[in-house]
Amino acid sequence: MDTLPIPGLDVEPSRTDWPAKLLSQNNTDVCRRPEGGDETDEAAKTEKLRVFTWTVPAWWVRLSTGDYFNTCPEAGVCGRSCYAFGRGSSYKRFPSARNRHLLNLELVLSEPKEWERRMKAELKGRVFRGGNAWVRVHDAGDFWSDEYVLSWLRIARSAPHVTFYCYTKAIDRFRRLVLPDCPPNFLWCFSLGGTEDRLIDREKDRHADVFPTVEALEAAGYSDQSASDLLAVLGAPKVGIPANRYPAMKGTASFGDLQLQEEEKRRVREAERTARLTLATAA
Ligand code: SF4
Repeated sequence: MDTLPIPGLDVEPSRTDWPAKLLSQNNTDVCRRPEGGDETDEAAKTEKLRVFTWTVPAWWVRLSTGDYFNTCPEAGVCGRSCYAFGRGSSYKRFPSARNRHLLNLELVLSEPKEWERRMKAELKGRVFRGGNAWVRVHDAGDFWSDEYVLSWLRIARSAPHVTFYCYTKAIDRFRRLVLPDCPPNFLWCFSLGGTEDRLIDREKDRHADVFPTVEALEAAGYSDQSASDLLAVLGAPKVGIPANRYPAMKGTASFGDLQLQEEEKRRVREAERTARLTLATAA
C-alpha cells in the first residue's frame, strides 16, 4: 500500500454496503438559546437539545479506489495537531468508526445525489421532530467543494425543524456561497488555523481559535466553549477552545497565532528567493 503524502487516515475500507443511517446521535446538550426567554427564569433560558453528527475522515484519506482525497483543503497549522489523529480519537481507537466515516465520504463522492436524497429523507424521521434537534456538520473534515456546501444548504432548507451548525476554515467558499443566502437554521463559526485565516475579521466575524489553556484564551479575550460545543454558534462571537482535544499541540501560541507565524516565515522565504533571483539576473 502506498503511504499518504502527509499524515492522515490510511485504512483499507471494508465496504459491504452504505451505512443504514447517515447521522449518529452525539449527546444531549443543555444550552441556552439566543432568544432565551425571560432573563430571570433559568429554566426558560435552557432547554435540552439533541445533537446529531455527520462526519467524514479528517484531512488526507486514501479512498478504496486508491486515490488520495483531502477533506480539509484549507487546513493549515491545525493539520499538525488535528484531534482526529490524537491518541483519544475514535479514528485511532475504533476501526469500525474509521470505516464508517470513510463510507460516509465515499457515498458523498461517488453518489452525491443519492447521499443528499438519503440525508433529506432521514431528517424527516420522528427523532428529528420537536424543534430541539441539532446536527453538527462534521466532527472532522470540512467543506471541500462548492457543490458540497450547496448540498448542505439545500438539506438545511428541506429540514427547517432541525438546526445545523459547523466550524469551517473554508472562508472564501462560505463568503461566496453561504453568507449571501443562508437558511436561518444553518449556523457556522469560522475557525482559525487554516490557509484562509486572513479572510477572517477577528473583530467582526464569529470565529474560534484553539488555545493551550483556558487562561490563555481568556487573556486573549475569548470565551471558553468547554461547557457546550453549541456555544460555538450560540455563545460569544470569539470562541475559545482549550487544547485538551489537541494533545499534539505544543507551546503557548494559539492556532491563529501559529498560522500567522507560518505565513510570516513563508513571506520571508519568498522575499529571500526573489532577492536571490534579482541578484542572479543582475550578475
Ligand atoms: S480542519 Fe479540522 S479536521 Fe481538518 S485537519 Fe484541521 S483540525 Fe483536523
